[in-house]
Amino acid sequence: MSDMTIGMKVGIVGCAGRMGRMLIRIVGETDGARVAGGTERPGSEHAGADLGTLAGLPPLGMRTGEDADALFAAVDAVLDFTTPKASLAHAKLAAKHRKIHVVGTTGMGNDDVAALKRAAAETAIVFAPNMSLGLNLLLALVERAAHSLDAGWDIEIVEMHHRMKVDAPSGTALALGRAAAKGRGVPLDEVAVKTRDGVTGARETGTIGFATLRGGDVVGEHRVILAADGERIELGHVATDRAIFARGAVRAAVWAKGKPAGLYAMKDVLGL
Ligand code: NAD
Repeated sequence: MSDMTIGMKVGIVGCAGRMGRMLIRIVGETDGARVAGGTERPGSEHAGADLGTLAGLPPLGMRTGEDADALFAAVDAVLDFTTPKASLAHAKLAAKHRKIHVVGTTGMGNDDVAALKRAAAETAIVFAPNMSLGLNLLLALVERAAHSLDAGWDIEIVEMHHRMKVDAPSGTALALGRAAAKGRGVPLDEVAVKTRDGVTGARETGTIGFATLRGGDVVGEHRVILAADGERIELGHVATDRAIFARGAVRAAVWAKGKPAGLYAMKDVLGL
């Protein structure tokens, strides 16, 4: 058996996107995994492009397709950093073919997550708005800090991303907010303040505020500020290379092999 025939067959949907191209490279560098196909949205100008060429590598002899159903049928796991609508359609295909689905797409609403959960009744789906090890550790630290401090400590979350990002606050900022809210034993939806403009009045005790910055090519920066009278704690994470997310996604796919159906998070994958 040649090396090309062993290991986990990994498909990449959205393979011409910023993350898609990075995933092609990282899967190719991972022992025990190999790129087995990729798709783009119907009508994409990248349809037919060689997957290796897309990633700045020598040609892989595999062309970008548009048939996600055929991709799910052919591979062991699919990595998905696309759009909420596309990821939900892909989750149904993952359920149909009982294949591992790793979803990094952000901008998912509560209904979207509920739909992912329904698909996860049939197969293992790992969903995380941030796949990096450092950020997932930060989530645990923030939950702990919020649990230890009373609501007299104001919690604010500041994030910055590149100018092309379409959703705000970032999925990671919201995950940090959820971790802080969980630490305090309240649902984020009831305490989140996502925008402030004009005469807002004084800050309401117990709220969790968000501030969104966009510009340049910033991969992702998050800071959680816990501010009290006379002192302040700042916990943060800076991503300088998209490869950290891609490595996390590949690690999640390998981890999910043989796992029972269910919706998993990165903390399951990383054992945090
Ligand atoms: P991008 O716009 O560069 O790439 C998305 C790609 O998906 C595009 O090429 C688009 O054509 C493709 N696509 C859309 N619909 C499709 C469909 N039906 N089938 C196949 N392909 C389809 O965006 P990006 O910067 O790569 O980010 C993608 C998503 O991943 C965003 O939601 C982003 O916030 C998220 N993200 C998550 C993490 C994480 O760690 N979880 C890290 C970075 C980015």
